[in-house]
Amino acid sequence: MTKADLFRMLLVAADAPGSLFDHAEVSRWPKGALDELMRSHLVRPAQTGLTAPCPHCDDRHVEIVTVVEPADDTEKPRYFICCPESLKVEVTEEMCRGWAVDLDGLAITLASALAVSTPKPVVPGRFWRLGRMQLRDTTREVVFAVRLAEDDADALMRHVGTGGRAVVFVPHRLPDRSRWPGRAPAVISLHDVAALVDDNVVLDPQAVIEAIDIADKRAEARGEVPEEKVTAKRLERGVRKVIENMVSDDALVQAYVTHGSYRKAADALVREGQITDRWAVERAVKAKGGPKAVRRETDSGSVSRAVASQSRDRAKKFDQYRK
Ligand SMILES: [Zn+2]
Repeated sequence: MTKADLFRMLLVAADAPGSLFDHAEVSRWPKGALDELMRSHLVRPAQTGLTAPCPHCDDRHVEIVTVVEPADDTEKPRYFICCPESLKVEVTEEMCRGWAVDLDGLAITLASALAVSTPKPVVPGRFWRLGRMQLRDTTREVVFAVRLAEDDADALMRHVGTGGRAVVFVPHRLPDRSRWPGRAPAVISLHDVAALVDDNVVLDPQAVIEAIDIADKRAEARGEVPEEKVTAKRLERGVRKVIENMVSDDALVQAYVTHGSYRKAADALVREGQITDRWAVERAVKAKGGPKAVRRETDSGSVSRAVASQSRDRAKKFDQYRK
């Protein structure tokens, strides 16, 4: 498991109730990862519900720990679990320790990646307001919520408002659209748009903008947004601009082959006026089988042919938008 995989697993855990990582699990994480995640405030020691795996049984069944406080200060507390086979089993303090995703820390990380204000918890541990993010020539209210797909999430959804203009970030699971009390806002899964790169959480800005545009267009198509035509036209122009500025995967790969590194390829494309970053280049290269595979493919000339056909496809798309 790499640290990037671990980050994705944390996002899944953040959306599952009562996710706790015990000693056995944390010991399988990459070396030093726990300390780094604690320092970045993405993981914290669990406050309640100590559990420990049974040291006697092969299936390592996990049980709730009972703490027996010492009779005087010279002794340490002792920890026990109940085992169906061995009955009362003493476990070590280290085995009892648990860790959980630091949700407040995750909200702060998201706010800083979006360059918005410090999160204000509205429902502690479930819902945070993150101020407004810049989106082209306007701003949108941003919120972060966890476990929004659960039965008790209706109360959280009411905090978002009914206008459908907010941008809601969730760690992983998207709630059913029909549950929103008004127009459904854009709901973005961090699992889809965020990654841990060199110990920093980064967002794919293109994916975020696309997710917002898709939600807007869907609302528009359903007639859910009865706004003046002026707004609709501005929106359409915005979407077209995103598509015009979108760098195709083939162009990203081609730039990588030409410049030899993700960073240099991204810098060169940005100098040409394209909107992209090193992460997008890396994703495109990996999607095509990784650095070795794309260099091999270029030698055979197939990538340049793919680029040519790709630009024809894009021209077709613009025509569709102009109509
Ligand atoms: Zn047991």
